[in-house]
Amino acid sequence: MSDSEERVLIVGGGFGGIKAALKLADDERFHVTLLSDKPNFRYYPSLFHTATGGRAAQSSIALSSIFAEESVDIVIGQATKIDRKNKALHTADGKVHHYNTLILALGVVTNYFGIKGLEQYAYGIKSLEEAERLKAHLHQQLTDEHEPDLNYVIIGGGPTGIELAGQLPQYIRYIMDNHGIKHRAIHIDLVEAAPSLVPRLPKDTQRAIARQLRRLGIRLYLGQTVQAETADSLMVNGKPIQSHTVIWTAGVTNHPFFKENQFALTDHGKVVVDEHLQAEPHIFVLGDNADTKYSGMAQTALYDAIFVTHNLKRYLSNETLRVYEPKQPISVIPAGPHWAAVVAGKFRLYGWLGWALREAADLDGFKELEPWWKAGAQWMTEFGTEESCPICAVVSHT
Ligand SMILES: Cc1cc2nc3c(=O)[nH]c(=O)nc-3n(C[C@H](O)[C@H](O)[C@H](O)COP(=O)(O)OP(=O)(O)OC[C@H]3O[C@@H](n4cnc5c(N)ncnc54)[C@H](O)[C@@H]3O)c2cc1C
Repeated sequence: MSDSEERVLIVGGGFGGIKAALKLADDERFHVTLLSDKPNFRYYPSLFHTATGGRAAQSSIALSSIFAEESVDIVIGQATKIDRKNKALHTADGKVHHYNTLILALGVVTNYFGIKGLEQYAYGIKSLEEAERLKAHLHQQLTDEHEPDLNYVIIGGGPTGIELAGQLPQYIRYIMDNHGIKHRAIHIDLVEAAPSLVPRLPKDTQRAIARQLRRLGIRLYLGQTVQAETADSLMVNGKPIQSHTVIWTAGVTNHPFFKENQFALTDHGKVVVDEHLQAEPHIFVLGDNADTKYSGMAQTALYDAIFVTHNLKRYLSNETLRVYEPKQPISVIPAGPHWAAVVAGKFRLYGWLGWALREAADLDGFKELEPWWKAGAQWMTEFGTEESCPICAVVSHT
């Protein structure tokens, strides 16, 4: 790199980090390095589908493919420590990366809130590996016992729990059909500590989603607290629910990197940022990590990345910097096959059309990160199925 180039180190190959790298890559005043702990981008919104028969490819894209034609250095490594004095970032493999500007977008990590047994026994869908593990378990349990689990319990009435609950009945019946297992009642419980589903959304939307889930036969346990899990039961409000399939979608917390590196944090553990999303001089924080109004959604991470990179370009051009204004994301929550709730400001839409919009939103999401032709091919993976179970694999290809 030349001495005149602004050396930008971006940490995190997720929505925020990738968008920031793409936005700076076409400006030759910047030398851009993207450091991530994994060689793939994880498309979280599709993981529930990958866990219930969808293809792994729909939830994962290689960084090398996204940046194939971009002038960005990709480094795989786990960021551990910032050396502020020397403007350097250390990684777990002992390497040191220098920067003029640092952009951090490390995402969140699962939080079990110290509830006994969850970490050991519960399944999750926050990574491709977790989604695949859950899928394998659903098959194994049914083929071992030739009947459904006594209860399938999903903890968390947020978008992830709802998406998964909506898809599960159909998928379990699909496995039973393929394996010639006699149909029996399937009990799926959705447990939420708050008195309603998706507390962030309007009440009428909460009710519409609850009605849809009940229509699918899902039992809702609202305002109920999970206390502990053992190998074959979950304790909820002092009563045990028998289950070998408990799926935890309820808790995330900010990445420990920020506490370990003495960033100023809010009570909820998010990083305090100024009106330019700057946490400290030359260090910007995006997406799930930053304490912004709509932090916690992919659309916010993309929006933050565009905001910060535009300001970096303005700074080099001696232009006035813009001030951050949070933008309300559109919420699209699938709850069962071909049904989704859409909330955009005062606008609401439920049902098949909502589901079609969700499909369109996925295409849009891929287009944020890839050229249209690659995004289109990625989007098409949503319509395929994939099974490691040999019997289901044959059925899915006939
Ligand atoms: C199951 C699920 C479903 C979701 N569905 C939706 C949805 O439908 N719509 C929506 O808007 N949002 C959804 N979200 C939320 C959305 O995915 C996040 O808000 C978004 O991913 C945040 O982007 P980010 O760039 O801040 O972090 P991420 O996208 O999480 O990216 C963080 C990156 O940092 C990397 N990383 C972590 N630690 C290190 C380290 N120490 N060193 C280097 N790299 C590291 C990670 O591997 C990852 O690549 C969902 C989330 C989950 C978990």
